[in-house]
Amino acid sequence: MSEEMKLRKEKLFAKAENGYDRINEQDLAAMEAYCCLYRDYLDRGKTERECALRTVQLAEERGFRPYRRGMALQAGDKVYTVNRGKSVMLAVIGSKSLAEGAHIVAAHIDAPRLDMKPTPLYEDSELAYFKTHYYGGIRKYQWVTIPLELRGAVALKDGTVVHVVLGEGDEPKFVINDLLPHLGAEQSKKPLGEAIPGETLNILLGSRPVGESGESDRVKLHILEKLNEKYGIVEADFTSAELEAVPAAMSCDIGLDGSMIGAYGHDDRVCGYAGLQAIFDIAAPQHTAVCMLADKEEIGSMGVTGMQSAAFDTFMHDLCDSQGVLLRECYENSFCLSADVTAAYDPNFAEVYEKRNSARINYGIGLCKYTGARGKSGASDAGAETVAFVRRVLDDAEVIWQIAELGKVDAGGGGTVAMYMANRNIATLDAGVPVLSMHAPFETVSKLDCYMTYKGCKAIYEA
Ligand code: MN
Ligand code: MN
Repeated sequence: MSEEMKLRKEKLFAKAENGYDRINEQDLAAMEAYCCLYRDYLDRGKTERECALRTVQLAEERGFRPYRRGMALQAGDKVYTVNRGKSVMLAVIGSKSLAEGAHIVAAHIDAPRLDMKPTPLYEDSELAYFKTHYYGGIRKYQWVTIPLELRGAVALKDGTVVHVVLGEGDEPKFVINDLLPHLGAEQSKKPLGEAIPGETLNILLGSRPVGESGESDRVKLHILEKLNEKYGIVEADFTSAELEAVPAAMSCDIGLDGSMIGAYGHDDRVCGYAGLQAIFDIAAPQHTAVCMLADKEEIGSMGVTGMQSAAFDTFMHDLCDSQGVLLRECYENSFCLSADVTAAYDPNFAEVYEKRNSARINYGIGLCKYTGARGKSGASDAGAETVAFVRRVLDDAEVIWQIAELGKVDAGGGGTVAMYMANRNIATLDAGVPVLSMHAPFETVSKLDCYMTYKGCKAIYEA
């Protein structure tokens, strides 16, 4: 190539370089340290409740105090509030008035899983099982024949809440069984989505009977006795329980080069943790920084702990009240990074991606101007000016980023909390970590992209 052509191209062409060709030594070291902390957060939080609890512990260690309505707040103050044990909102008060807007990072801490039905326990053929109802978009065939844990809460009539953790560490795990190939001929002819019906996702709990031969439900009784011994609960208490089956696998590095992380629940704890660690690390910001960790994104952000809940507005309204600012004025001047994962280009399934507009592993935090399906249906299509603002902020902070769509037009689609923030009159842009095998019991992300998402969140808070 002639020198002249090279200069002409350099002047006009957009550059897309692998993050490893751009990252500096300092960031490389920081990336490894950050990813160790992230893996610890993942391993301690396999449910939204556990993530919320761990978030509060970490926040308190860093000087955040529980917010109380009417509290006097000054620049630099750090507060948090927990919504019903499943969602957390944190804020660092800025030196500017909230009338000039808040800088928000919103992610979600719920993840696809199997919930127990309200009447879950039964015995069949002298084996005890739990009936499940899947939560979020799962590919059912991926949830059979893998070790599972049971986690969650049982709320008793007297108001106490029992936290359940079964199958952790060396404890016995649980499993959903599948057909052996020898007898699977008919099942194998079915489409992938139909081969494992939802009503067969029954969790094997035990096989050892108690009591006298000839009695019925002896294995079920044994299971209830075990649960009663450990938690003091009886069968009727399942009525007011939220028990979740989650993969037992712990996070680990992936690849001979250790460049990736495999784990359950990257979607969206990988962005939630980025937003959280970033709000811990900012020095006194100008705009009030808000980290929103929402629940229920995987089922449409509905309900009292989802992003559509007024809980967020209430928290922001309270903060605004402390400065005599109107909430609507704060919102119209705020910016929100809707931090949620996107699909990483997978050469194994190239046919569903449009290569020129796909997020790639190691190319940094992936911005998505819009999500949605078909003709952008259900998308919060960020304004060009909003994207330009984020480009500038990320470039100024030397954050490695890329811009992408989820997949080919008409191949499918997805959504995030972005539209619910944008509907509040908050300028919002989607951005997050590209994920391989998204929504599988074991998802893969790149360390570089995790770290760049953290850096991106920090840059947004500090902008
Ligand atoms: Mn997500
Ligand atoms: Mn998801």
